[in-house]
Amino acid sequence: MSIKNKFKNDKQIIFFWSEFKRIRKEILNVNPFRNGSILKRKQICGNKNCRCRKDKKYLHGPYYSWTTKKLKKTQTIIIPPELINEANEYLENAKIIKNKIKQLTKISDDIFRRKVEIIRNQKIKK
Ligand SMILES: [Zn+2]
Repeated sequence: MSIKNKFKNDKQIIFFWSEFKRIRKEILNVNPFRNGSILKRKQICGNKNCRCRKDKKYLHGPYYSWTTKKLKKTQTIIIPPELINEANEYLENAKIIKNKIKQLTKISDDIFRRKVEIIRNQKIKK
């Protein structure tokens, strides 16, 4: 049997491949994603007579900001309240993507290692 056919008929490789395809398909369904972290804070305003300076319960906000790292520099976007839910979804989707890529990386490693093993076994037999 040719080595290509050996790979094709190997039960472990068949299993790894089906897992790989399943997860790859799932990635196609992921909506937009964005990394970083979302911070929520309340703050005082510029008005010196405002009650927010006297009592914490009058602080303005909450304000949300999204911090990401781009080429080692930190970037911050102030999130309009209308987009806070969407922002959280993007963040959640980024975690999903990251997790799936991690799984694909592991399976790819499994496939390659199995192929190496098959070739080694074949050489021992000869
Ligand atoms: Zn104020």
